[in-house]
Amino acid sequence: MKIRRGDSVIVITGADAGDTPRRVLNVVDGGKKITVENVNRVFKHVKRGHPKSPQGGRLEVEMPIDTSNVKFYCEACSAPTRVGYRYTKDGSKERFCKSCSASVGTISPAKAKYQQQ
Ligand SMILES: [Zn+2]
Repeated sequence: MKIRRGDSVIVITGADAGDTPRRVLNVVDGGKKITVENVNRVFKHVKRGHPKSPQGGRLEVEMPIDTSNVKFYCEACSAPTRVGYRYTKDGSKERFCKSCSASVGTISPAKAKYQQQ
């Protein structure tokens, strides 16, 4: 699972495909699907008493799309790229852009086992 909440992605297929990077709101279904800001929006009809709409009515919400329909967007090289994993010198695991090799943030704390001298 290489796409995480808060990442920027480019939607490559479907009605909302485009060149603008969009933010991932949530990852669902164990990483198979994601919800992306302003992509695949639908009107959900809710009854009275819903926390976001006490009066009831129509809520506009994003529905999940398949992760294979997006590309990771690298902020550093401003282009759609791929993400890899690697260990840093202190032994923590991080994600990186395979194109410019910029770090995309650490995903697990430092472990002595993976430290490099
Ligand atoms: Zn990059």
